[in-house]
Amino acid sequence: MKSTRVCPYCEGLTSQDLIFKEEAYKVRGETFEVSHSFYVCSTCGGEIDNLEAPDPLDEAYKLYRDKKGFVQPQKLIDFRNKYELTQKELSHMLGFGAVTLSRYENGALQSDAHNVALEMAMQPSSLLMLVKKNKGIFSTEKFEALLEQLDRECESIYCSSSNEIYRQLDHSGISEFSGYSKLQVNKIIELIVFMCSLSGALKTKLNKLMFYSDFIGFKKQTRSITGLHYVHLPYGPVPNNFDFVYAQLLKENIISKDEVCYPNGYVGENFISNREPDLSVFNEDELEVINFVREKFKDFTSTDITEYSHKEKAYLETSNKEAISYNYSKYIEAQ
Ligand SMILES: [Zn+2]
Repeated sequence: MKSTRVCPYCEGLTSQDLIFKEEAYKVRGETFEVSHSFYVCSTCGGEIDNLEAPDPLDEAYKLYRDKKGFVQPQKLIDFRNKYELTQKELSHMLGFGAVTLSRYENGALQSDAHNVALEMAMQPSSLLMLVKKNKGIFSTEKFEALLEQLDRECESIYCSSSNEIYRQLDHSGISEFSGYSKLQVNKIIELIVFMCSLSGALKTKLNKLMFYSDFIGFKKQTRSITGLHYVHLPYGPVPNNFDFVYAQLLKENIISKDEVCYPNGYVGENFISNREPDLSVFNEDELEVINFVREKFKDFTSTDITEYSHKEKAYLETSNKEAISYNYSKYIEAQ
């Protein structure tokens, strides 16, 4: 493409060719090929910037964000507009300056930590928490409107998550293996959120807390709390398909995960709730049981509770991968 314009080098009105070139740009140690365009003066050969073309560094940032799964500027702007949040309000909730947020919206590359904060805030359940925590920065009307909008969104996510869990778990019927309860996904979710509130729970421990809640619940009211099936695995009794359930809750950002490294090289996954449990799904007996279980095992490490569970008849009398009947709950100590 040719155009005729003033050349800043030879200062004449000259014919200039638009040239495209792939150029390598380095972003945080990674190299990206970005198409870069400029004009070349046919009289003096000078290279003149193409001011209409996007900034190649912005393009390189875009590729970097794509590669890392980072939030793109337009998505950030759309998110803020969706909730009618000002830059000042959002940056206040996120704990970084309004200028920083504005720079991100204009294409500056966010830090890793800021990207995590942005992604978190973009989840309705986390945004709801942030809004509640920062109530003071909103007018009453705006606060109420945000709560209503976010409650509605959380509710619909909650439903889709519940449906997904329901499909993946054994809901074949009421038997000694379901504790004569039908599968109740809302109770499973709230029980996990309850056990992972306070300082969180390591996965191995969480599996046992679920087991004790359901089995002691069965002992008390001759039916389990959640209707979950449990199986015998080397580390003790665990809810059937537990990895899927936790993964689903992580995906929906109902809980989050921290990796904990131990001196012996073992890496554990600690789950932490991102919201308060909704205890209204439990009846009084169930509340008593889950509080008892959380309190009783409060200071147990994963190893402690694993060893403890290995002494249960429910574990001793079943073999690897075998389903555990709730009838064993009569041998479990519950006081
Ligand atoms: Zn020239």
